[in-house]
Amino acid sequence: MKDKVILFDKKENCCACGACYNICPKNAIKMVVDEYGFKYPKIDYTKCISCGACKRVCAFQNVIEKNEPLQVIAAARKDENKIMKSASGGIFAVFAEYFLSIGGIVYGVALVKENNTLVPKHIGIDDLKDLPKLLGSKYVQSDIDNVYKEIRTLLNNKKQILFSGTPCQVAGLKAFLGKEYDNLFTIDIICHGVPNAEFFKGYLEILEKKFNGKILDFKFRDKKDGWGPYILSADILKQNKLQKERKYIYLDESTYASMFLYTDILRLNCYKCKYTNKHRTGDITIGDYWGIEKEHPELLKINGGLLDTKKGISAIIINTEKGKLEVEKLGQEIVYFDTTYEKVAVVNTQLREPSKYGKHRNKIMEIYKLGGFNKVDEYYYNKILRKIAIKKEIKKYIPKCLLGKIKGVYRLIKR
Ligand SMILES: Cc1cc2nc3c(=O)[nH]c(=O)nc-3n(C[C@H](O)[C@H](O)[C@H](O)COP(=O)(O)OP(=O)(O)OC[C@H]3O[C@@H](n4cnc5c(N)ncnc54)[C@H](O)[C@@H]3O)c2cc1C
Repeated sequence: MKDKVILFDKKENCCACGACYNICPKNAIKMVVDEYGFKYPKIDYTKCISCGACKRVCAFQNVIEKNEPLQVIAAARKDENKIMKSASGGIFAVFAEYFLSIGGIVYGVALVKENNTLVPKHIGIDDLKDLPKLLGSKYVQSDIDNVYKEIRTLLNNKKQILFSGTPCQVAGLKAFLGKEYDNLFTIDIICHGVPNAEFFKGYLEILEKKFNGKILDFKFRDKKDGWGPYILSADILKQNKLQKERKYIYLDESTYASMFLYTDILRLNCYKCKYTNKHRTGDITIGDYWGIEKEHPELLKINGGLLDTKKGISAIIINTEKGKLEVEKLGQEIVYFDTTYEKVAVVNTQLREPSKYGKHRNKIMEIYKLGGFNKVDEYYYNKILRKIAIKKEIKKYIPKCLLGKIKGVYRLIKR
């Protein structure tokens, strides 16, 4: 008798990219939600034939990436109206439009309406009218479902495919395919880490109660006030009303966004992510060029340059010859300038090291397990967000020198 296959020893060794789920010849693997809302593959041993395909295809455990950046650029698409629909410089959309124009199929993440809520899913589109669904960052882990299998069939039928996702999803797809395809182009994003879809669902329910209506669409990064400020927005259909209304949510009011940014609700493997370095999984890597004001002030519009911090600026890391060719091909659609990996990584720490394990993560997970997202929201808002907001307000009105003295006195009293 063959040994039982064990997919991972510790949860931190599974990124749920879905390669094992897609490769199983017996459909013996299910993606199951754990007590904290994260999905993990689970083998049904009554169906498993111990072929080991699932174990071999695990890129997170087996593959060492070797790509080195060939070129790194600061970039933005030229069409300024179109940039506003994307999270940063609108680079993904330029590639997507090109692939659609040559009859290709573009894969990315959309918020799909399912069971009366919005679910983050990888989908494939072949029509430009569907592109808006894929634009903008969704700061939550997407469901890959059977997408890798679908892509393999399309590639074998000579379709041109653009796949974009987190570095672990791109690695998952490549490991699943097991060979190079000339007709596949991959884009990985610079990634802070992912919360799970259950937390996101719980957050949407809270917003629906608060705004007294149904959420039709949701943006994790609305550019209402430009590229920098972190503002979320929800399109709400109010009860008894026919027209939708856009509500804006600021970072210090949003428990979900704050917990995400302060790294309190990321998946366990994100805290030891192996892709937070130069060895990237995609043909190109795209992200926000945070910190460009310091690294390249000369490129900015405010200083007479061509890149606009109000609209959005991307960093593109070109990792393969294929990536280089495609960027050259689309050069007329974007403005770009040479920079270096080190400069992009100054503020974008995700290019140097994984996100740190959040200070409040253990407590949050414990609360979620017992009371669900409602309780998490209550706790985080009252115990953490409020305190941060009060501190910020106080700091605004008290001069720095006085603040230092007050802190000193407070420490003495506490003793
Ligand atoms: C979870 C997450 C964390 C990120 N962390 C950082 C970071 O720390 N630093 C940084 O510089 N940039 C980060 N980004 C990337 C950044 O937010 C932009 O997505 C990226 O710069 C592309 O911007 P764009 O304007 O070209 O395209 P946009 O139109 O804004 O982005 C669309 C692209 O993002 C992909 N995408 C959206 N949501 C997801 C998802 N949940 N999973 C996988 N792919 C998704 C789409 O498939 C598409 O390729 C993150 C993105 C996500 C989704």
